[in-house]
Amino acid sequence: MSLPEPEREAEAAAAIGFDLSECVREPIHRLGMIQSHGTLLAVEADTGTVDTAALNTAGLLGIAAEELVGGPVTRVLSPEHWAEALEVGAQHDGASLVLPVSVDVAGAPRMFDVTVHRQGPLLVLECESRAVAAPHFAHFYQGVRLALTRLRSATTAAECCQAAAREIRALTGFDRVVAYRFDGENGPGEVVAEVVTEGREPWLGLWFPASDIPPQARRLYRDNWIRAIADVDDISVGLHPPLRADSGLPLDLSNSVLRTVSGFHLEYLRNIGVKSSMSVSVLREGELWGLIACHGYTALTVPPELRAACEFFGVAFSLQLAVIEEREQAEALTASRRRLERIISRVTSDLEDSLLAGDDVFRALLDADGAVLCRGGRGTSSGMRVPPALLEALQRRAAGPVPGTVWSTDRLAEEPDIPGDGTEGGPAGVLMVTLSRSGDFLAWFRRARPTARRWAADPSRPVQAGPRGERLTPRGSGAVFRAVVRGQCLPWTPTDRATAQELWRTLTGVVLRHEAELAALNEQLRITNSDLDSFAHVAAHDLKEPLRGISNAAAFVIEDAAAELDATTVRRLHTMRRLAGRMDDLLDSLLHYARLGRGGLHRTRVPLGRVLDSALEVAGERLTEAHVRVIGHDLPEVYADEDRLYEVLVNLLVNAAKYAGGQDDRTVEVLVDTLRPPSGGPPRQTVVVRDNGIGIPPGQQHEVFELFRRLHGPGERGGGTGVGLAIVKRIIERHGGELWLDSEPGRGSTFFFTLGQEGG
Ligand code: ADP
Repeated sequence: MSLPEPEREAEAAAAIGFDLSECVREPIHRLGMIQSHGTLLAVEADTGTVDTAALNTAGLLGIAAEELVGGPVTRVLSPEHWAEALEVGAQHDGASLVLPVSVDVAGAPRMFDVTVHRQGPLLVLECESRAVAAPHFAHFYQGVRLALTRLRSATTAAECCQAAAREIRALTGFDRVVAYRFDGENGPGEVVAEVVTEGREPWLGLWFPASDIPPQARRLYRDNWIRAIADVDDISVGLHPPLRADSGLPLDLSNSVLRTVSGFHLEYLRNIGVKSSMSVSVLREGELWGLIACHGYTALTVPPELRAACEFFGVAFSLQLAVIEEREQAEALTASRRRLERIISRVTSDLEDSLLAGDDVFRALLDADGAVLCRGGRGTSSGMRVPPALLEALQRRAAGPVPGTVWSTDRLAEEPDIPGDGTEGGPAGVLMVTLSRSGDFLAWFRRARPTARRWAADPSRPVQAGPRGERLTPRGSGAVFRAVVRGQCLPWTPTDRATAQELWRTLTGVVLRHEAELAALNEQLRITNSDLDSFAHVAAHDLKEPLRGISNAAAFVIEDAAAELDATTVRRLHTMRRLAGRMDDLLDSLLHYARLGRGGLHRTRVPLGRVLDSALEVAGERLTEAHVRVIGHDLPEVYADEDRLYEVLVNLLVNAAKYAGGQDDRTVEVLVDTLRPPSGGPPRQTVVVRDNGIGIPPGQQHEVFELFRRLHGPGERGGGTGVGLAIVKRIIERHGGELWLDSEPGRGSTFFFTLGQEGG
């Protein structure tokens, strides 16, 4: 998209902000000047000696500054008033308090409102004449109380600001009262509420560039609730002495109510046609949230009592706003919690799958364009593409802080340690929550959203030549500049952050729970297995003895009394012996099977060819008898317990002999291939034993691996106890491998097995 030239410039400037270096550097709290409608004395608190005095004391207090400095403050204040001021200063360190004081000026009493604050070892007294008819705080208090009541009925932050602007205007009578909200600590300000006299150009919705309020001014706004300028054309009054002997600097006027503001600011106000102004800070958790700024088109002195009332209102307003914002956040949190619950309800120990597969609820949770779960250096993502270099940078950032730390930015491009990949449409902002100190994290990404802003000044031309050199451009001239802010995503809200953390907390819980459940299950299984093994072992062992007794007894009877017995009885006795023998075989198999569950595996890398050779030493004869040819393909090394593997091959080969087909060319092949096991996962080294024997009917292919399960009766096809394949299966499982088969009746059976992972 191409923009017209001025807009492009405006956009560039709006995105980066601009630097009025001179203005930014000005030490505005050490200008050493006050407004002339009042005067100032700085008095050593310990001795009561005047340290510094404003140069207009002669006119207001009747004694010249030069005469006052070095002398006792009691030349001006009565000892009672001084004692009172000391008491106030001691109690309210940092804050200012107003005392009504009467001073004898040239023989006549004159009333002053003295604002007292402590500045290091000094007590600073700022005196403003008090009109005899001036209303007292009690009067203002009524107004403020009503104003606060009205404030309380506001339900949204915007309504609350609008009500505050209206009330401050009603209290003070300024021509324009606006509420600004700052976009970030040092960002530009937006006019979110306004009350203005008819005929004046409205500012509502306008943005003011960040540089309109330089950082050091923001610091003063944060530290003082209120400041007022009675007349922008006032001739400021200097101090005596102008510089302090100890520091070589003018007196620190940070907390002074009469302090002259920067020449830049005065000129700025003049440029917009403002003659007097006042601003009340709006703080949120100790940080500057915004300002209520008041402008008068004529000079207007706000008396100290009214200032105090406005200050009080400002504090109350800040609290009220916090309450509303918190409620708004709580509501947003409830909504996102509902979404969170949906996600959590389907979380399994496979986080990647349960968070990122399927629909986009996880991404939608934070209204993001993309999401990533990065664990063990591997990122799984959904939605927009995230450049690998960005993932790596985030991983570095995630390593270190405690798990559960949330970090976010809506301007990734401004992060020094994060490489931009320069592509349009990539992530402009990220919110991540760390999962481990080794750099695992969950992150959401948002695309850049071009935001159209109406600027009160052309943000591309902030500085203009004026009578005193480079000056701020006139504001409020009716010209509104539109500029689009780019490279920035929608800001992450406190709710977004809270939601991400909540998800982290729940996930930790879920994963831990899954792990605990798994551990408990494993333990249970281990106990059950070993119970079963020892039961089988003991039973098999103990049964062998009486069985041998039965068999022997039958043998004796046959031997000793054969002549006296009839043929049927003899045949039955023989059957009895044969059955006892068979039962003995079964018990042997069972004993062997049970023993397999005990003892560890001794796994090494073994050449499969060698194992096949030794298996053939046992099975070879059976195979030869059955005319089955053995074909051993190129056999590599496998990682297994050699003795157990030998047993597997013996069983499979003997079966190939037992269940050989009727054709002439009978074969059993042994080979190794890389195959995907039926349970899924990546392809693995697989041993294959394939015969062309009688095959196994499809419906019975699962049964053959069960203990004592045979498809052929004893004696049929070489007999057997039905334990062979169960043993094979158990051995393979103990290796962490898988056993499966493929068979077609009449064509043959193929047995496949893997042997688990090396090091697994
Ligand atoms: P058995 O001692 O009966 O051989 P196995 O556990 O080794 O016991 O095998 C179980 C059953 O599976 C056998 O009875 C047989 O019916 C079938 N079977 C095993 N191997 C094969 C094979 N290679 N071909 C066809 N059937 C087989």
